[in-house]
Amino acid sequence: MSVMDLPPLREVIATHDLRAKKAFGQNFLLDLNLTGKIARQAGDLTACDVLEIGPGPGGLTRALLAEGSRKVVAIERDPRCLPALAEVAEAANGRLVVLEGDALEVDPLPHLTAPIRICANLPYNVGTELLLRWLSPPDWPPFWQSLTLMFQKEVAERIAAKPGSKAYGRLSILAQWRCDVRIAMHLPPQAFTPAPKVSSAVVHLDRLAEPRYPADARVLSDVVARAFNQRRKMLRASLRGVVPEVEAVLESVAIPPTARAEEIDLERFCALARAVEIQRGR
Ligand code: SAM
Repeated sequence: MSVMDLPPLREVIATHDLRAKKAFGQNFLLDLNLTGKIARQAGDLTACDVLEIGPGPGGLTRALLAEGSRKVVAIERDPRCLPALAEVAEAANGRLVVLEGDALEVDPLPHLTAPIRICANLPYNVGTELLLRWLSPPDWPPFWQSLTLMFQKEVAERIAAKPGSKAYGRLSILAQWRCDVRIAMHLPPQAFTPAPKVSSAVVHLDRLAEPRYPADARVLSDVVARAFNQRRKMLRASLRGVVPEVEAVLESVAIPPTARAEEIDLERFCALARAVEIQRGR
């Protein structure tokens, strides 16, 4: 049997009694045309290993295999899904490895060979945490080449947002500093079973070989977190305490101390992070 010959997902869910559990963030994609479209947003998978988080009954997993992935490594926390995934693995002739556990704890790297792409319909409760980890490894470039990830629409918009918008913030800066980012697809609640309350979107991030502008990752992350933590405040207030003479440091990189975080673009934030680092080193 090949992956194409597996039974429809509704049948798989009924056979294995996979009633969606809210605690696991389970909103399944049952339309294989749709999972195919999402898998194709990840680019050419034929020479890649793919890491999937939360395969559930395996709809996106099947699509990633059908798109020719060299290997798919999938981490699933809900043990109820494992028998259904074992059927996919059997049809995939050794190209699917399922790891049981929490994606925040399981290390998939021993099972993966570069080039690696990550593609997932993420559980919303851990999606942002996983994205931040993938964006903040100790060294750049990271182990992955691209991320193709489903988020709540609002989170997707924050990742892709530009200065001056309400959605612009820490996630936008950390993502766009080291990646090309685009919103690849929008999905209405009815695309999922059960339908969530909110709309969703798939974001695609291609890693850059080097960060877009030089800056120390930890300093940038710290400055941006503080700046947006009190986003209504002027930067001279929200960044008080980051360095002793914060107004002078802001002025040294041509940022008016009265500006607010959402007016400052990525290049300026990186210049600010460099100036803060120099000031701290004195
Ligand atoms: N990929 C499937 C699909 O598209 O139909 C399921 C997506 S569903 C939104 C999220 C999946 O992640 C569920 O199967 C859930 O059990 C799993 N999950 C939830 N928390 C997890 C975690 N911490 N680590 C790994 N998997 C998790």
